Amino acid sequence: MSSPTTLKATQQQTKAHNNSLVLSTIYEAGEISRATVARRTALSRTSVGEAVGELLERGLVEEIGLARPRLGKPPILLRVKADARHLIGVDLSGPEFRGAVINLRGEIRHALSLARDGRSGSAAVELVYSLLDQLITAAGAPLLGLGIGTPGLIDLQRGSPVHWAVNLDWLDVPLRELLEVRYGLPVYVLNDSQAAAMGEYFFGAHDGTGNLVVIKSEEGLGAGVVLEGRLLHGDHFGAGEIGHLAFSDDGQPCRCGNTGCLETVASASAILRAVRAAARADEHSALHSSAVRDEPLDMEAVLAAYEAGDRCVRQVIRTAGRGLGLAIAMLVGTLNVQNIVIAGGVTRLGEPLLEAARQEGRARALAALAQATSVEFSAIGSDITALGAAAVLLHQELGIWPLQRS
Ligand SMILES: [Zn+2]
Repeated sequence: MSSPTTLKATQQQTKAHNNSLVLSTIYEAGEISRATVARRTALSRTSVGEAVGELLERGLVEEIGLARPRLGKPPILLRVKADARHLIGVDLSGPEFRGAVINLRGEIRHALSLARDGRSGSAAVELVYSLLDQLITAAGAPLLGLGIGTPGLIDLQRGSPVHWAVNLDWLDVPLRELLEVRYGLPVYVLNDSQAAAMGEYFFGAHDGTGNLVVIKSEEGLGAGVVLEGRLLHGDHFGAGEIGHLAFSDDGQPCRCGNTGCLETVASASAILRAVRAAARADEHSALHSSAVRDEPLDMEAVLAAYEAGDRCVRQVIRTAGRGLGLAIAMLVGTLNVQNIVIAGGVTRLGEPLLEAARQEGRARALAALAQATSVEFSAIGSDITALGAAAVLLHQELGIWPLQRS
């Protein structure tokens, strides 16, 4: 028999679960009546009414006039009040620390980037403080908390990179604790590729299967995996850490200490490095003279050279596409996730890279699985990691989670 305390705890759990389910349903629908919420959640009208009452009271949901008049009494529609709370999402994976104030709908209200200029260790932590100080000042609504996407394997409890955040030299920095003490807000720290997967899952292509892989290629290369509606962390926080799989035996040295890692051919920064080296050695390349003068090179110039038929650029993109294709084939073979999204700086290379990656993925995977797999670029752009880090707050603090439609 249940004691009064456990009975009360169970009732509270049920209430929290109902609130979260009702809020997620309203979130997903955009605008919806109480009756439809009840139908979709299979909760009783009374339970839905209670949950909605509480959400209205907390100011998270608002009533918006009347639905289109039909026969009978037209129902009032509910929607999530987009600016009832703000979230802060931060991306520490690039040459600049990016951050944004985001509303409950994932709309960016304020964005800020601070150049890292090679800072690491405590100087990099100071730069995070500076970024967050400014973002918190810019927030226009009560803050739900701070979400941080950072390279490295992240110990979720301490919120500290435990390994491989090589550039930041943060092996023993308890980032989560530091930020919680300084700001008195809930803080979540996760790997940047895993954050990108959250960004895509909440705000991008979401096919309702509950499964998604995002391959993020920027400074480094990694994947984030959402499986059966849950973000996969892995036994040692390294799920999706595919950038350091060996791609070739005689490849370039990698920052991890090995050579020929996938990251050394298929990350956005590796592509730029390879194009520069190849163009320097090839007098016929359109990029030769600027490579010799060591001028800055961007993806748009690489794409233009590709389209003009530049041989050495074509070779580099083919190799990068093969690298991404290998990653895709392995992921398809291991997880059979049909929705694979590529994000990060490489997306600026457009169709040529995407097609090379698709071809290689098809060639290396079981045909029946490869045919059923869609490989696309993310439409979200360079804020995907900051958005995903913020989405963790929607999940952890409000219980909002994209619903599976099976
Ligand atoms: Zn490596």
